[in-house]
Amino acid sequence: MGQMKLETKVFSILKDKIQSIQTTEGAIYLVGPIKLPVNLYGETIEFKWYCWMNGEEVTDDYQQIIDNLSSQNLAEYQQSSVLVYGDFENSEDALIRMHSICHTGDIFGSKRCDCGYQLKESMKKVKEHGSGAIFYLANHEGRGIGLFSKAMAYLLQENGYDTVEANENLGFVNDSRNYDDAINVLQRLRSKPVTLITNNPLKLEALKSAGLHVSGRVPLWGDFSEYNEKYLQTKITKSGHLKEERTCSND
Ligand SMILES: [Zn+2]
Repeated sequence: MGQMKLETKVFSILKDKIQSIQTTEGAIYLVGPIKLPVNLYGETIEFKWYCWMNGEEVTDDYQQIIDNLSSQNLAEYQQSSVLVYGDFENSEDALIRMHSICHTGDIFGSKRCDCGYQLKESMKKVKEHGSGAIFYLANHEGRGIGLFSKAMAYLLQENGYDTVEANENLGFVNDSRNYDDAINVLQRLRSKPVTLITNNPLKLEALKSAGLHVSGRVPLWGDFSEYNEKYLQTKITKSGHLKEERTCSND
């Protein structure tokens, strides 16, 4: 009986914070908002955090979803999430960053790309703007080739290949990232248009054609060094990034 009562209490805490979004492949289960105070350049900023996972089954039986968590080995594959700031649902204009996960740049602070810088700067821009969201897309490592393949690609880059050549020589298309899930989540959280933080007009077009309601674009350049010069140059010459601005292959 004690166990039963605990489960009921646990479920009552969680049930109103879970929602499902039906997709063509099944459903996205979105949990949040969760309070997330973040240390941003020494200042504590209160974000609201949401996390999601995909399921093949479409159900409103969240008890069942929760019951299955411990048997799913979720740590073996990553889930994506979004940091939301301000009155995201209702504000007239909101800044959005669709940030591709970068294990080396975001976590270790690698200078081979500018991802870590772009992530922190996006959070700062969103905070200063007053409303927005940073989507952290976990299946986008190395433009969608995965971390282990990215390690191989880095070895090729150390031997004269650029980012695009390295990925293609390993048998990957240059950019296989998909934004459908992130757009679905965004549309659940906000229906008004957004301004996208990116240096990549192609990314803007891809998001527009995938159904995102975009009103404009804000560039984000910085953190240039001898270590990412070639990488940034490749973005301009091969990946459509605007030259007058100059940025990571993950953008
Ligand atoms: Zn990176």
